This record gives sequence, C-alpha cells and structure tokens, in this order.
Amino acid sequence: MTDLERTHERTPVPEDWTYAPAPEARDIVTLRRRYGHYVGGEWLEPTETYTTISPASEEPLAEIGQATPAEVEHAVQAARDAFENGWSDVSPSERAKYLFRIARILQERSREFAVLESLNGGKPIKESRDVDLPLSAAHFFYYAGWADKLEYAFPNRRPRPIGVAGQIIPWNFPLLMLAWKIAPALAAGNTVVLKPAETTPLSALLFCDVLRQAELPPGVVNIVTGDGRTGAAIVKADGVDKIAFTGSTEVGRAIQRELAGTGKKLTLELGGKAANIIFDDAALDQAVEGIINGIYFNQGHVCCAGSRLLVQESIYEPVVEKLKRRLATLRVGDPLDKNTDVGAINSKQQLDKIEELVAVGKDEGAEIYQPPCRLPEKGYWFVPTVFTNVAQSYRIAQEEIFGPVLSILTFRTPDEALEKANNTPYGLSAGVWTEKGSRILWMAERLRAGVIWANTYNRFDPSSPFGGYKESGFGREGGRHGLGPYLQFEDGNG
Ligand code: NDP
Repeated sequence: MTDLERTHERTPVPEDWTYAPAPEARDIVTLRRRYGHYVGGEWLEPTETYTTISPASEEPLAEIGQATPAEVEHAVQAARDAFENGWSDVSPSERAKYLFRIARILQERSREFAVLESLNGGKPIKESRDVDLPLSAAHFFYYAGWADKLEYAFPNRRPRPIGVAGQIIPWNFPLLMLAWKIAPALAAGNTVVLKPAETTPLSALLFCDVLRQAELPPGVVNIVTGDGRTGAAIVKADGVDKIAFTGSTEVGRAIQRELAGTGKKLTLELGGKAANIIFDDAALDQAVEGIINGIYFNQGHVCCAGSRLLVQESIYEPVVEKLKRRLATLRVGDPLDKNTDVGAINSKQQLDKIEELVAVGKDEGAEIYQPPCRLPEKGYWFVPTVFTNVAQSYRIAQEEIFGPVLSILTFRTPDEALEKANNTPYGLSAGVWTEKGSRILWMAERLRAGVIWANTYNRFDPSSPFGGYKESGFGREGGRHGLGPYLQFEDGNG
C-alpha cells in the first residue's frame, strides 16, 4: 500500500457535505473606543456621538461623532483653505502621486479593510475581499492616471477644478462609494468633505489613516460622520461648490430642490429596479448564476441589482426549477465566514422595510418561495426569496426593495420584454441573456438604462461610466465621464 492509499484509508468519509466554519480572524482590525471628525488633517472631538454596531451580532463597535452644522462648516472651511492655500497649486503629476500612494496603501491594507467592512456593514468577507477592496484600489489607480492628462481628456476646453466637493454616500458599498467619489474629485484638483452613511462609518474613518500614511496635505480630504442631518448640513453649506450624492431617490429629490438656483453643481446616483432578461436561447446554467449574482450579491443591497427577472415563457419552468435548486445551496450567515454567500441585512430599519414589502407582495397575490434556511439568532437576517406570479402593477415589481428578494415575470417576444423592462420610473441598469449578438444590440439600443450587461451581471470597472436615467439620477461616475462633474471649463459648458 502506498503512503497516499494509507492516508486515504485513515481519513473518514464525511457523512454530509455541509461546510465547516471558516471564520476570518478579526484581530487584524484595531477599533478605537470613540471616533471624532477628521478635519484639516486632525481628529476633532465631537460634540455629540452615537454607537455603530455590527448588524450580524448587534454588538456595539465604537462611538461615532454626529456632526452638527457648525462642525460641518468647520470641515468645509478646512477644505476651502486647503484648496486656496496649496492644493490648487500642486502640479497635476504630484496630485497623481498622492492618488497612486492611496491606491497602493489600500492594496497593502486590503485584508484589514475587508474585515472591517464586513464587520460594520454585514456583507460577506468573500465579497469585501474580492470585490469592494480590489475595486476601491482600482478606482484610485485609474484616476491617478488621469490627474495629469485632463487637457487630453477634454481637449481645447481648459479644464479647471471647481473647488470644494461635498460628498454623501450610502451604506451598501461604504469604501467603494468613497473611492468612486474621492478619486475623481482629487484627480480633478478639488478638495473634499465626505459623509459616510450613519450605519457604516468605520471604513471611511480607517481611510483617514491611509490619507495620513500617504501624506496628503491637511484639509484636502475631510470626513465628517453623522446621520441625514449632517448630510443636509453639507448640502446647505455655502462654501461647497458641488454635491455628489448616492442614495435613495427621495433624498436625492430633496437635495435637488435645496440646490435649485444656487449654482452649485450636482450629481445624483439613486435607486433602481433593473430588469434581468432571459431569452430562450440563453445558456441556462450560466444565466441562473447571473440571476443569483444579480440579486443576492451584497444581500440585494445594490442600486443596480437585477431585482425584476423577465423570463421568456417557453423556458419559465426550467429556469424557476434550476433557480430554486441553486437557491437552496446559498449559505446565509456570519459575514466573516469565508464560505458565506449571503450576509446580514445592514440595519434593523432596512430589515423592516424588506419585511414590509415582502408582506405586501404576499397580500397582492404573488407566490413566495424561500429555501429551508437556519438564520442566526442575533442580528438582522432575511432568507433569499423568490416571488413568482408577479404582475407588473404589484409594488414588488415597481419599488426598490433593496434586499435579497427577486420578482419573476414572463414575456413572449422581444418587444414585450422591452416594454416590460422599460415600464419603471427607474433607469439604472439591465441584463440581457441570449446567444444572439444582434439581439443584444437591438435590446441595448432600446433599453432605457444607464448600464446594460450582456450575458453577465454586476460587473464593474473604473474605466466604465456608471449612472442612470429618469428617477435613477443623472451624472456619471467612473471613466473619463466621471471627471466632468468635478471640473469647470473655459467654454462655460458644464
Ligand atoms: P438615504 O438616501 O437616506 O441615505 C443615503 C445617504 O444620504 C446617507 O449618508 C444618509 O445619511 C444621507 N442622508 C439622509 N438624509 C439626508 C438629507 N436630507 N440630506 C442629505 N443627506 C441625507 O438612504 P437610506 O439609507 O435611508 O436607505 C433608504 C432606501 O434608499 C433603501 O431602502 C434603498 O431603497 C435606497 N438606497 C439606495 C442606494 C443606492 O445605492 N442607490 C443606497 C442606499 C439606499 P444616513 O445614513 O445617516 O441616513
């Protein structure tokens, strides 16, 4: 008998194939008991605080500052001083060096950031490790490359920075949204006051340490924390020249009203109710993976999530059967476990919203399917859910649920698919699954969505612009287009 055979003989055959726990170590993250606001390169002691928790365990993590309007004014003043007294004179190639440094440091500290992101936000570690962190670093690398090439990006238009950018971001991709906002703003030569979401401030606060390591001049990036009141104070602050907002359509509308007539620039990246359209000639197993990734990635807390599945009638049954089978294999649980597919819902408030809309879906007559699933006792959880028998008029087919809940509708012809896909107040993204290139192009020309994926879903790249139509907002982030909103031009065209 060989050594290998002897080893096999000694190894017991597992009785079932459930995964053993594979927790990522938490000790790479050192949390402070209390965090202030990062203003002018220093930590300011906050006047008010609140507690941030882990949504997976409800365990308190740290005390966080709740910035008052006066503290926001202070941060805006620091950004203005930095812009006028130094940063606007820094040569573009020097600016690029700071961005490259930030990107490199994020790469070096990526495990620390990934663990913190999962701890504070509830997303699975395999997503924060393999998606949020690499993409955040990639954004800084990408915009570092543009910093000294703005004249080439906008030929004959003499691009100049705007001044102070106020940036308000949501809780679904805390560090990535920060990167989407800060990288183009700095590449264009602006200074920044940024507010992370109330429930997920910790990665933005750790990012302040990256700024210190990169030796970014004080006041170029200022981070203030707090809830919607802090966001509203940034919007109102006189010294802010531009607002970049990602979040709900409702708050986006309020911001637009507030800024009307002020001359401040505005970009809004709001909600979505994307159609993921499966034609009968699509590779079904691949499409099912795309459906799963489209709606259960990040617990469905994704503005471009494929939350409305449109399936061609002739393949409805096999698709639903395969989908249900695949759903049963999703592992829901501890975000810090490397095997987890679906983590915790970000907050009690968001869980209540999901539960409310799911109850409405049942009342309206849709048929619910949830795989057998044991949820942890503490924390905020929701079982991955599929609704069939959904009519277009149902609220679950119209409103953004922002959770792991999929509504399935059917269609017979490409025209019908298109009509149903476009029948939404939103217009952020869409997916098309078919083997015919001509059909992809035909659909893409007619779909009213800012981003269209073909035979894939939820793929992001810093060089590719992202943004919406209609109630999904306006302005683009990413790519050369993402620089425009942070610049003014001599020809006066914004
Ligand atoms: P919000 O739009 O309230 O939050 C987004 C950001 O704006 C947060 O930083 C928030 O602070 C801040 N904010 C809240 N009110 C104001 C205000 N009046 N002025 C300026 N800033 C403000 O989204 P929610 O977190 O309340 O989520 C509600 C729904 O919005 C979700 O269920 C989902 O449907 C949608 N959503 C869409 C997102 C997207 O990526 N498009 C992202 C997040 C949510 P604070 O966190 O303290 O409230």
